[in-house]
Amino acid sequence: MKKRNIAILGSTGSIGTQALAVIAAFPELLTVSVLTAAENADLLIAQAKAFKPKAVVIVCESKYIQVKDALAHLDITVLSGEQGLVEVVRLEEIDMVLNAIVGSAGLRPTVKAITEGKDIALANKETLVVAGELIMELVRQYKVAMLPVDSEHSAIFQCLVGEQANPLEKIYLTASGGPFRGKDREFLASVTKEQALKHPNWVMGAKITIDSASLMNKGLEVIEAKWLFDLDVEQIGVIVHPQSIIHSIVQFQDGSMKAQMGLPDMKLPIQNALTYPRRLRNTFERFDFMNYTSFTFEEADRDTFRNLELAYQSLREGGDRPCVLNAANEVAVTAFLADEISFLGMSTLIEATMCQQKKVEHPTLEDLLAIDMETRIVARSLVK
Ligand code: NAD
Ligand code: MG
Repeated sequence: MKKRNIAILGSTGSIGTQALAVIAAFPELLTVSVLTAAENADLLIAQAKAFKPKAVVIVCESKYIQVKDALAHLDITVLSGEQGLVEVVRLEEIDMVLNAIVGSAGLRPTVKAITEGKDIALANKETLVVAGELIMELVRQYKVAMLPVDSEHSAIFQCLVGEQANPLEKIYLTASGGPFRGKDREFLASVTKEQALKHPNWVMGAKITIDSASLMNKGLEVIEAKWLFDLDVEQIGVIVHPQSIIHSIVQFQDGSMKAQMGLPDMKLPIQNALTYPRRLRNTFERFDFMNYTSFTFEEADRDTFRNLELAYQSLREGGDRPCVLNAANEVAVTAFLADEISFLGMSTLIEATMCQQKKVEHPTLEDLLAIDMETRIVARSLVK
């Protein structure tokens, strides 16, 4: 494998730090060109000193001087602001951009990276939720690779290797069910953010952890899958699998199914994306059947966990609806984490916001960026 230079957008987060652990394990094959963070200047500085990238971006402009001064003795370009993210992906030496930013803030840098001809390793599912159709068009136009990092999508991607001629009948995205699996709305009415932040199987950033508890994460993943694998909404099923060992399943037109399995460790799909098509030997913990003597499956409860149904509905309606859903959800999660609304209040807020925003049928990228902003303002006003 030829050496790959990786730009990690969102290097200080859960995916970003695990990606650095993967890169550190393969120093002959993977190097870091770019690191970026929203606010965590201390960690960004430490990462830059350890990995010596060509450039770093601290999005929060008031922390620019701190980062610049700390790295002054090294040959590292320091940029800041949202514009810095868009500029930095143009660097000639970058082969692949790992987008591990959380939220629709990841959209603009993804677009720029594609149009600069960079391959994409995508953790930032919101990019495809907001603008999946347009993004996949750009991927084709600029002939770049789009490698999923989300574990379910990585699973499906891996199941499809060698199956180019065989159309899919259906896929099943697996869901752990989160910390509130099996609970009813009465229980959910009074759950706290501390309870919601305790995921049974995965340790992740706060936003996706709340999305996992509300099943919005699975809803966003249904939309992500639609665009990545060019499916109709009816072809995408969700099945609750509390052990989180089967990461997703594909079903072909002969009824045969393939699943991808492994321990719930994001370093596996991250490595897969960064080193594709190679599978390199690593020292991560191996699966032991005796620790998992049964796998179980349940139907996802879309009446109790309304967010999943709202996501399906947004996809059926199309146009700008998934973008509106996503922006309203980002505001809802922030408000829940700030104790401004209840757990169930998140679905109420998303639904109310979607009702207020008039549907746009064929939005352009610029339209979607504007709709994302407008929706946040509407949703914020409904929190008050
Ligand atoms: P996180 O909150 O731990 O990290 C987010 C990173 O993005 C940080 O480096 C932060 O500094 C940066 N960031 C935050 N807001 C930003 C902004 N407005 N502009 C620029 N940078 C910003 O999040 P995470 O859990 O690592 O998730 C990152 C993405 O990966 C999300 O889209 C999530 O859905 C997806 N994902 C995460 C996991 C997981 O296990 N954590 C699994 C699958 C998919
Ligand atoms: Mg996932």
